[in-house]
Amino acid sequence: MKVVQLKMSTKQQALFIIFGGTGDLAKRKLYPALFALYQKGIINEHFAVIGTARRPWTDQHFQAVVCESLPEQDAAAARKFAAHFYYQSHNVNDTEHYVTLKKLAQKLDEKYQIGGNRLFYLAMSPRFFGTIAQHLKSQEIVTADGYNRVIIEKPFGHDYQSAAELNQSISKYFSEDDVFRIDHYLGKEMVQNILAIRFGNNIFNSLWNNRYIDNLQITLSESLGVEERAGYYETAGALRDMVQNHILQIVSLLTMKMPTTYSEADIRREKICALKALKVYQPQEVAENFVRAQYQAANGLKGYRQEDQIASDSQTETFVAGKLKVASENFAGVPIYIRTGKRLRQKATRIDVIFKPVPGNIFADQNLADNILTIKVEPEGKVSLQVNVKKIGQGYQLQEQQLDLSPENRNGQQIPEAYEKLLLDALAGDATNFTHWEEVAYSWKFVDAIRQAWDNSQQPLVEYPCGSMGPKQADELLAIDHRNWIY
Ligand code: NAP
Repeated sequence: MKVVQLKMSTKQQALFIIFGGTGDLAKRKLYPALFALYQKGIINEHFAVIGTARRPWTDQHFQAVVCESLPEQDAAAARKFAAHFYYQSHNVNDTEHYVTLKKLAQKLDEKYQIGGNRLFYLAMSPRFFGTIAQHLKSQEIVTADGYNRVIIEKPFGHDYQSAAELNQSISKYFSEDDVFRIDHYLGKEMVQNILAIRFGNNIFNSLWNNRYIDNLQITLSESLGVEERAGYYETAGALRDMVQNHILQIVSLLTMKMPTTYSEADIRREKICALKALKVYQPQEVAENFVRAQYQAANGLKGYRQEDQIASDSQTETFVAGKLKVASENFAGVPIYIRTGKRLRQKATRIDVIFKPVPGNIFADQNLADNILTIKVEPEGKVSLQVNVKKIGQGYQLQEQQLDLSPENRNGQQIPEAYEKLLLDALAGDATNFTHWEEVAYSWKFVDAIRQAWDNSQQPLVEYPCGSMGPKQADELLAIDHRNWIY
């Protein structure tokens, strides 16, 4: 059993080989995350990073780029850290380049006494993953004396078929245990808190089922538009970009059964079961349970179809709302309402668990508020519980009260960024917070049914104005069930 406890002082030794080392993700997320681990002493002397991409950079230039990507306040430490970075101009399709890469990797392994541990971070388009995996094996860049782990970014395919092909192209060379599929939502503190709240408290654990929960609501709203990702987004849309991965991962954490132990194998097993239990819709059910929409110009902001690189008749959805059904003993009959979109009122990630009212309520004449457990993942990182209490004073009136259940930060620690946590997990070989292939597979099967129904449907997308919380049809989805969005 792999127990997921890692002392922050544990030192790690590894050679990182980052494919796409000049890219946006590497600069914005990976280098700052590695620096945070360096500052904590987790990676220290025995680590090195090879950044690869086609452009002909020197080590010095690469190190300067790495320094620029780091927080400004600690320039001396940044320079010491960046001295561990090396650049290799490399076209992933060119076999010759892997020969040079192998020599550099061996040299750095000896220089930093790394002991053969390698992490291959594929921070580039998934169409290259197969060829990289193949070359890493055929050119013997993987080592025999340490671990060899591959970290893969989303998107993992654009439907089940392409994901299965992609998975096959990697699994030919790397076993599932060595493949770490990133869903950075799983590295977020408040998403990780879901299991603590559910399974660490009998008051929630015993109520976490269809006898006591009325419905679940998940909102991942973004205030930005497509920005510079227009090319990718136009081929993906909100369903593939946000629902297939982040939202369904949150659904699995909310609906999974209690794992036998807090361990990678048991948690992943239950998550897989939770995703398998999602009802895959028939086309008519998609029309009844899902809404797709596109943002329209409003409040001085352009509509989606007026954005650069977007077709003027684009049918890509920038908003999805849906009602999910789970065929499990504990969640049958509990609707899960989900919602995500761009150019919404506010950037927020939030989960609301709405409990059923007290049966035989003696305060029935008082319009009691629902008990709602709210997990605000972003921006605040807070947990609260809405309860009813007596109003102070004469008479007997009740009022709602928010209990703040947010974790107390006793040492005033800075909350680590998702990428920092996930890189540390990958270094420690702990895949609990990465998605297993079977999770990916069930998620795509669920999403493909919706996508196919939309593609074959004559019904046009609906519209919503920039700065709103989506189209009225998303509200109607709940209104028809006599419910409303809490957020
Ligand atoms: P990006 O900025 O376009 O970077 C792509 C990288 O790939 C560049 O370093 C590019 O450098 C390199 N590259 C392209 N073709 C190559 C080739 N034939 N051989 C070697 N290197 C090549 O993309 P990104 O935004 O960093 O995203 C990388 C991956 O992460 C994508 O799969 C994306 O979907 C995913 N992702 C990104 C974000 C994000 O916030 N950026 C978030 C989630 C997921 P050269 O041009 O110099 O070769």
